Amino acid sequence: MSNHLFDLVRANLPADPAGKTFIETGEGARFTYADLVARSGAYAASLVGLGVKPGDRVAVQAEKSPEFLFLYLGAVRAGAVFLPLNTAYTAPEIAYFLGDAEPALFVCDPGKREALEAVAKAAGVAQVRTLDAAGRGSMAEAADAEAQDFADVARGPDDLAAILYTSGTTGRSKGAMLTHENLASNARTLAQAWRFTADDVLIHALPVFHTHGLFVATNVILVTGGTLLFLAKFDAAQVLRLMPRATAMMGVPTFYTRLLKEPGLDADVTKTIRLFVSGSAPLLAETHRDWQARTGHAILERYGMTETNMNTSNPYEGARVAGTVGPALPGVAVRVVDPETGATLGTDAVGMIEVKGANVFQGYWRMPEKTAAEFKADGFFITGDLGKIDREGYVHIVGRGKDLIITGGYNVYPKEVENEIDALPGVVESAVIGVPHADFGEGVTAVVVAREGAPDEATILRTLEARLARYKCPKRVLFVDELPRNAMGKVQKNVLRDIHGKLYGA
Ligand code: ATP
Ligand code: MG
Repeated sequence: MSNHLFDLVRANLPADPAGKTFIETGEGARFTYADLVARSGAYAASLVGLGVKPGDRVAVQAEKSPEFLFLYLGAVRAGAVFLPLNTAYTAPEIAYFLGDAEPALFVCDPGKREALEAVAKAAGVAQVRTLDAAGRGSMAEAADAEAQDFADVARGPDDLAAILYTSGTTGRSKGAMLTHENLASNARTLAQAWRFTADDVLIHALPVFHTHGLFVATNVILVTGGTLLFLAKFDAAQVLRLMPRATAMMGVPTFYTRLLKEPGLDADVTKTIRLFVSGSAPLLAETHRDWQARTGHAILERYGMTETNMNTSNPYEGARVAGTVGPALPGVAVRVVDPETGATLGTDAVGMIEVKGANVFQGYWRMPEKTAAEFKADGFFITGDLGKIDREGYVHIVGRGKDLIITGGYNVYPKEVENEIDALPGVVESAVIGVPHADFGEGVTAVVVAREGAPDEATILRTLEARLARYKCPKRVLFVDELPRNAMGKVQKNVLRDIHGKLYGA
């Protein structure tokens, strides 16, 4: 047997691996495909040397760097299960994740070793190693000492390659178990759907502890032999400077809104680019429109999640429709069902989005009951997202099931109200939340970011009352400078609910 995921990488290596750049960093350091094979082999050998066995978890909380990717692929080649952790997690959070994941080894930044070593020991982790952004630390040194011709540990399509914790937007993060084939199938599908070739140079400014940066953006390049312009973090001015050297960019909506604030953004600076992709959070129709007006490019929006990799994508050729995430990707089945009856709904009816395909994960790590509850008997996974499918087969995300506001016994989809508010002149964006209310259970409440000259609370309320059923109308409109967002640009409604929880005194 062979190593299913890394075989796919090998099968698509450039003809001259030593002559083709895999990664170029923002500081100008270059790593070729030959470096990728050698370095990931060295990490694999050192992991095996440290006693990591097939199926063991290797947990890593380290800054983004090329070495981080080599360690990821090294873990895959060693037959281990790669388990990256958000760099923002604090010691108590790390304690929880290590206790949950029980890795054989924990790799952290040298600067955090002192604080985290005791945490790891208390969680029963036998070994702690270090890796920093410059590729130094005891894990990197262990790899330095290894020969580079590692023979990959055999792993089949159904063996686990990674456990990735979800973003924790709706509750405590859950570990999604992803197999070699989950990752391989999505890499192949996306590379094809988005027409990646060895000539592509992809701007990669995403974090690598999340599915978007670790799998989507990295894997399409890995399986086509292109180049990553690998930036430690997103900086609009730097990205704009590098744009003329790139052919594609993948980002979260915040990247696009920040770039739109750069006076230098125009059709000229983006003329070498053939594809802009957005995902992880809804792209405002306004952003889509402004981007097209400024650059001539229609951003391609797609929809995925930690548990399923990518589910849908607007087409490469054909209409990229703002406010939709496009049709199901090849090999992925998407349906919308009535959450109460489970019946599949027809065109334009709003319900729960369910997906099935080789992209869908195996279940939540050590949560057999939760896993059982989220899978239907026919293999469909219940995403937790509400949406509808239009006549053209394009999926529209209406919000999250957990976001649903129940007020006076009526269901209100926040997205419907947000769309009305966002369309008002001077409104930048809004978040509609349910706040405890003595009479209604939850009171519909709008939190709004507005520019100078936007309507005031009374005007917004009056306008909405003319457009929406009364029970959907907010009781209050609160103005803020910005909405709280996490690293992936997702609005943190739980934070808003905490801040405004006493608004109605309940
Ligand atoms: P948790 O599951 O822990 O609450 P999370 O769902 O935010 O966190 P991720 O797996 O990172 O964790 O995010 C997946 C979710 O992101 C999807 O279920 C969907 O709600 C949202 N999402 C992704 N892409 C889009 C998009 N293009 N438009 C709207 N929402 C999107
Ligand atoms: Mg989720």
